[in-house]
Amino acid sequence: MKAQPPASHFIDGEYVEDTAGTPFDSIYPATGEVIARLHAATPAIVEKAIAAAKRAQGEWAAMSPTARGRILTRAAGIMRERNRELSELETLDTGKPIQETIVADPTSGADAFEFFGGVAAAALNGDYIPLGGDFAFTKRVPLGVCVGIGAWNYPQQIACWKGAPALVAGNAMVFKPSENTPLGALKIAEILFEAGLPKGLYNVIQGDRTTGPLLVNHKDVAKVSLTGSVETGRKVAGAAAAQLKHVTMELGGKSPLIIFEDADLESAIGGAMLGNFYSTGQVCSNGTRVFVQKGIKDKFLSRLKERTEKIIIGDPMDEATQLGPMVSRAQLDKVFSYVEKGKAEGATLVTGGGIPNSVSAQGTYIQPTVFADVTDEMTIAREEIFGPVMCVLDFEREDEVIARANGTEFGLSAGVFTSDLTRAHRVVDQLEAGTLWINTYNLAPVEMPFGGSKQSGFGRENSLAALNHYTELKSVYVAMGKVESPY
Ligand code: NAD
Repeated sequence: MKAQPPASHFIDGEYVEDTAGTPFDSIYPATGEVIARLHAATPAIVEKAIAAAKRAQGEWAAMSPTARGRILTRAAGIMRERNRELSELETLDTGKPIQETIVADPTSGADAFEFFGGVAAAALNGDYIPLGGDFAFTKRVPLGVCVGIGAWNYPQQIACWKGAPALVAGNAMVFKPSENTPLGALKIAEILFEAGLPKGLYNVIQGDRTTGPLLVNHKDVAKVSLTGSVETGRKVAGAAAAQLKHVTMELGGKSPLIIFEDADLESAIGGAMLGNFYSTGQVCSNGTRVFVQKGIKDKFLSRLKERTEKIIIGDPMDEATQLGPMVSRAQLDKVFSYVEKGKAEGATLVTGGGIPNSVSAQGTYIQPTVFADVTDEMTIAREEIFGPVMCVLDFEREDEVIARANGTEFGLSAGVFTSDLTRAHRVVDQLEAGTLWINTYNLAPVEMPFGGSKQSGFGRENSLAALNHYTELKSVYVAMGKVESPY
């Protein structure tokens, strides 16, 4: 098998197997080939991972932030040296084209290690609070054992985006990747260990929706960070709330991308395509409701169709390929069912909607798809599809489009294309979303906080803001004189 790891789990600095766990296959979505066979974690494996994390955390927290940061910086260097190898693994894990993984996956994981490794020395300081003779100070302390649970669209990135701030702040992590993409996180654990991370601090265990709750409900777990769907988010946040655990929720979206008549048309079309077709549309922040102002509708649609039909679909390992398969057959079927709903509810299919030619029959491919004349009430405009399906909606006025853009339970992202700077700022001010873009879409550099509002979640990943979610404040009052007591 092409990508068989030495064992299913990585715990306490080494690969561990427990064949009593339910076996499952890792499938390469481009061909349907089984590339690895693994076992889901048994309760014994969950215990082992959490115990290892708990054991290792105290000593790690006692190290200086600079020393912890140095290890992460070293891990970033190893990831960059092995970018090709890691990108190929990411492509096997997800089916995403190597053209993408080579620039977007291990590199963005390495960015997180580099950023948090670099800021460690300065970002974990507390405050001095003068109180007129007496004073107080604050300390930023780690939470303890943190659990990360990942989705399948960016397995290596998610493993790093959660691991980097957790570790640098002095926590230990147990990470569970998605059962669809179990391979990347194991390599991240190996690299961290190679970079000098003491054993037990970053553990990876496999499993699915039945394994996740064993982690979330464990009494020794202080925090859970989930990347997943809103439905899962409700369950995980609910279970964590029962024990008052810290949570970060990176959930789904149905984000609006608003294109005004004065926008640079080619840029706006490029942004809309990137925000719908990158990673075969499996990006949480995608701008899947593309609102186009009426005056440019025809021009926009004809150029969009032309450019979309030129997208190269094929073997993800071929550097020329721009669009790969969906991650799994189940996800492909779900996306096709939305295409059918779109047609049935009266949207105009501009392009796509079928299976592309010249791909493996066992591959889980779908053509990049554009619907026009979509209305706010249609299912495809309301529900997250998580595939390469763009919905184009018409609008006339600014106030109208803002109200319609906000008319959703989600609030992950939003974007606006216009050459009127004042309008751009006025519009983003009113859009209800956690991450917004002006005249671009979907860029998520590690320096910028990333996350959602409304039902798309809470907490932020990346940037210094992420450190707040992996630490808590300890306040210490220091008296400089005698205690004055009325008793
Ligand atoms: P999912 O919700 O089905 O699964 C996510 C993870 O949660 C998996 O590892 C799964 O095994 C685990 N899980 C499922 N039920 C659980 C439970 N009850 N307790 C604990 N863990 C449980 O999501 P998915 O299909 O893997 O990913 C797609 C979704 O993720 C989309 O909705 C997408 O928008 C979202 N997503 C969000 C972001 C973000 O940063 N906001 C990024 C990527 C993906």
